[in-house]
Amino acid sequence: MKRTNRFNIEWDDPEEAEGLGIGCSTLWNKLNYKRRESFFDEDKEFDWSSDVLYDEFKGWIGSATAQQIVRKNNSAWKSYFSLLKKWVKNKDEMKEPNPAGYWKDRKKDEKELRILVRNDCYEIEDDGTIKLPFGRTGKIKGEPHWDGKQGRLEIVYDRLDDRWRAFQSVEVEPRHQPRGDKSAYVDLGVIYPVMTYIEGGETTVGYSGRPILSNWWLYNKQIDKAKSQAKEENDRYTSERIKRLFRQRKRKFKDAVRKIAHDFIERCYQAGVDTVVVGDLTGIREKEKWSSKADSMVHNYWSHKYLADRIRWTAENYGIEIELIDERGTSSKCPKCGSEKKVRRGRLFKCKECGIEAHRDSVGALNIGLAQGGNIPAEVINIYWKIRWIFHRFTEFY
Ligand SMILES: [Zn+2]
Repeated sequence: MKRTNRFNIEWDDPEEAEGLGIGCSTLWNKLNYKRRESFFDEDKEFDWSSDVLYDEFKGWIGSATAQQIVRKNNSAWKSYFSLLKKWVKNKDEMKEPNPAGYWKDRKKDEKELRILVRNDCYEIEDDGTIKLPFGRTGKIKGEPHWDGKQGRLEIVYDRLDDRWRAFQSVEVEPRHQPRGDKSAYVDLGVIYPVMTYIEGGETTVGYSGRPILSNWWLYNKQIDKAKSQAKEENDRYTSERIKRLFRQRKRKFKDAVRKIAHDFIERCYQAGVDTVVVGDLTGIREKEKWSSKADSMVHNYWSHKYLADRIRWTAENYGIEIELIDERGTSSKCPKCGSEKKVRRGRLFKCKECGIEAHRDSVGALNIGLAQGGNIPAEVINIYWKIRWIFHRFTEFY
């Protein structure tokens, strides 16, 4: 499986690195311009050619790097075309995809400095020295997390922090193997990011997303304040401080989601789970409509895919399989008697037929399990208060 190591690079000759970055961006942008032009011109065939530009740039940035950029641009367009096909069939459920963009800062109109290095064209030594072609050298800062066969290295200049950030792809083996053959059933959401029943458990287990929501809200207040300050001071709506706050907000969110995914998968592993069945996310927007705070978070901020991707990613490390199933309808019927006559108020689910009261998301998780023929004892399928809640301590946020 593929993993990414992140570290920074301090170049021995930063100007030379900058020159290489400019070369890479210029090639990408020229190639992309040619392709966008052919794409938006209805009379033209899409222009996949790259030979002329490749020849022009190989002397500047090296042939292996020029080839990497051409390949990356090819795959950006290929994935755009395949998304476009999906979108045409699914306009209600998907956002319209964008064609491959330029490597530049849109507001400042500056080139983004981005260097691609082929897997066999760089070396990282034990003392942290990194060697690129043409005698370009530097030191890596930070510990690479993953050990394995090295893949492509992508290095981007971060203007906000004045750092060169490297993303190294590595091929690694899973760290663990499942210890049993149980399943876990999961309902994903925003207020409760993970609500799950793990086979063998005495109750469903729920993770609360409230700390994430309130943290997000606090950042919003700070961002609003910084915006009005920037407006007063220099009549602008943006500033370095605002950019930093947005960045921090996103990092805190991702960090919290990572913690939840890790805790959940670790719990599954300890319980002997080898398959996690996840209700897919298409219903998440409708499901959360009742809260305006959550709603605004879902639309502006919450990355639907991030939680699911993170669960998948963490599960892979443990050798656990993920199965995605269509969850539509899973929270509308009673898990005990199957009746669809129910009262739903906020998070409460009450069956009018058999009278059980339960947490709505818990009903979702149990129904996913029942639909899969899961092993769920009768005493688990009952009452509202029988959920083991997990609140993460996100105090470092505030
Ligand atoms: Zn019932």
